[in-house]
Amino acid sequence: MYHRIKHFFCKFLVCLGFFLIFTPLVHANTTGPQLGHRSQTNQDPNAGETKQYTPEEQAFINTRPGITVANEFDWPPFDFIADGKPAGFGIDLMDLLARKSGLSITYVNGYTWDELVEMFFDGSLDVIHSLSLTPERQKKALFSTPYYHSKNVLIFRSDTLDIHTLNDLEGKIIALPKGWSSIEFFKTHYPGVHIIEVESSRQALEYVDQGKVSATVEQEGIARYFIKKFGFTDLELSQWLKNEILQKTSSMHFAVLKTNPILFSILDKALASVTLSEMELLKEKWFSRSGRQIGQEDVGLTPEEKNWLKNKKQIRVCVPPERMPFSAIQGNQVIGMTSDFLEIFEEKLKIPFQINPALSFADAVSQVETGGCDIIPMISKTVGKKDRLDFTSSFMDYNVVIISREDFPFISGIPGLKSKNTGMVATSNIIEKVIQEYPGLNYIPVETIEECLIEVSTGQLDAAILSLPVASHYIRKTGLTNLKVAGHTTIKADLRIGVQKENKQLHSIMSKVVRSLSTPELDMIYQKWLGSELEHKPDYTLLWKSLSIAGIILVIVVLWNRNLFRLNKQIAVTNEKLSQKTEELEYISATDSLTGIFNRRHIEGAFEREIKRSIRHDRDLSIIIIDIDFFKAVNDTFGHQTGDLVLKLFASLVKNNIRTTDILGRWGGEEFLIVCPEINLQNASHMAGTLCRRIGTESFGQAGRQTASFGVTSFKKGDDTQAMISRADKALYLAKSNGRNRVESIA
Ligand code: GH3
Ligand code: MG
Ligand code: MG
Repeated sequence: MYHRIKHFFCKFLVCLGFFLIFTPLVHANTTGPQLGHRSQTNQDPNAGETKQYTPEEQAFINTRPGITVANEFDWPPFDFIADGKPAGFGIDLMDLLARKSGLSITYVNGYTWDELVEMFFDGSLDVIHSLSLTPERQKKALFSTPYYHSKNVLIFRSDTLDIHTLNDLEGKIIALPKGWSSIEFFKTHYPGVHIIEVESSRQALEYVDQGKVSATVEQEGIARYFIKKFGFTDLELSQWLKNEILQKTSSMHFAVLKTNPILFSILDKALASVTLSEMELLKEKWFSRSGRQIGQEDVGLTPEEKNWLKNKKQIRVCVPPERMPFSAIQGNQVIGMTSDFLEIFEEKLKIPFQINPALSFADAVSQVETGGCDIIPMISKTVGKKDRLDFTSSFMDYNVVIISREDFPFISGIPGLKSKNTGMVATSNIIEKVIQEYPGLNYIPVETIEECLIEVSTGQLDAAILSLPVASHYIRKTGLTNLKVAGHTTIKADLRIGVQKENKQLHSIMSKVVRSLSTPELDMIYQKWLGSELEHKPDYTLLWKSLSIAGIILVIVVLWNRNLFRLNKQIAVTNEKLSQKTEELEYISATDSLTGIFNRRHIEGAFEREIKRSIRHDRDLSIIIIDIDFFKAVNDTFGHQTGDLVLKLFASLVKNNIRTTDILGRWGGEEFLIVCPEINLQNASHMAGTLCRRIGTESFGQAGRQTASFGVTSFKKGDDTQAMISRADKALYLAKSNGRNRVESIA
């Protein structure tokens, strides 16, 4: 394993580490004899500070100033290539040692770490740096005193629940970069762990991110650096691994082969002469937050990926229907955040993106599946889509909220919408997530976002479930001033890029380009599209003046959410109590006390709602009225109590023999109404016939066999509840007059 670290977060430990490592050396240096050193080639002021060299060492410096040193291509901030030149903490340190000793360095790069290690042990490289110490390696090479310490951690996906310690890796697959000393460690101490050797640490993290392996092992600082830099937001770190042997491998050294002790001694003396402040400077340059950003534009494509892009010529993008601020199609251009993201991707990948409009998310997914399109930008990874597309990591997440009219009470989440007319945009990204989490939710699908908001504003809908950025964009756009965010939901949506499944190259390329999005790039897009969405909140004018734009957006989002959250919390507590009471009351007021089925008032309401729904979606709707035959005789013969019992048994028999979507209520005395959505006259009559026969076979206690008559009708254009009831009544009358115990229907 590399012995390299980046400590944004525990700078203190780093300082302490440096202090402990270097204090004795500095001390020795300042009190020891100082011999002037002749530098052959450079005039560096450091050159004079170096420790005393033996005549042999001096001769080596004089006669062989050029040495070859390993340089990896992809190990920021320690050892990598920036703008075609070696860069990083390790490189700067080696340069410093060269200046101090009078040696000059030729960096050898263009090889993988694995190859560099092999070249070093072959003798074709003089020095390798940022190397960990293992017993095997120590047999052949001399190791410097460590110049950096770190602790190893496990890195796994945040949805992994069973990995905490090294023992949990037993039987699992992990990714480790080729040539890492940790491979040696696992083979010796944990032979049950399967290792996939990858090209670099970054690739190891990618494998974990993509679920190809369960975990990887890396130094905490490095892992955090990569996670932050490349946005592996789905990854999580374990505690420091409590294994002494493994932790021993996490110190950084440079090494020289045992066959070259003079070179080793020169460099080791140079290292000993590095002062604390020199180390501090290096540390500041490479590890501090304010330090320079490294390889910002570097997407990290492999040569094969670059080649793949070259042959591909263009990437076809399926854009779902309008949902600003995310995307909309204007002409044959895409606008919204998607357009800005695609612009950055185009620039970074050097390939044009061609826009294909899609009718809905479902259509977009199908298009990608059938090869009509390559990617869908800004899509959520849901259960339904997971198996159909591959996804990049997420680059934006947002809340899903409930919108209602201003005069509407606050709503404690989606369960509070139970008896409300709630709209959702049928083609939206969030609908699947909402239904998945709240399968019982009754919602009315609406075609467009604007239509949905207008219907809430005009009272056709009680509420709408929408994503916050989308809702605020369209509320502003439509100028509907009587709308508000009435509540939060537990649903969080995140946006990723959906890529054609099995298109491994494109998936890897898009994953890399998403991870390469820098904080300023993301800030710029958020500010442009979301900043203005939130701007109309009035209370933060002072903050506007005193904070930077990016800060403000964050603060506003946080404050806004927090404010609403606090308010909602209070309301939620009250609402919770109220809604319990209301639920009890609702139950009581909706139920017929004798039979336990819905009472007339409730079934009338339900019937009305079903008519509206059937009109809206142009769906079938039928009703069945049932009247028990000669029921008066039951009362007269067996008494009223037996009559009551027959009514109870009758109601539960009917209830148990209809579909769960049918709504049953007591219409009056011994009459019942069944509202049957999504079913035509013929099928409703058939259903009534089955029910009629079933009743005839049942024994109603003391009262024995009973029969009933059925009147059926279906919804026709222009119908209201009364019109339908009146036809069903007529049909019932027919059934009675045609001999009872039968079904009649009127279209
Ligand atoms: P038909 O076949 O023509 O419907 O004859 P029927 O006797 O069922 O019709 P009718 O409307 O003459 O009688 C309905 C009876 O239902 C009258 C009433 O006493 C009885 N009834 C209504 N509500 C209740 C109730 O809650 N409990 C009991 N035990 N009987 C009830
Ligand atoms: Mg009757
Ligand atoms: Mg009757």
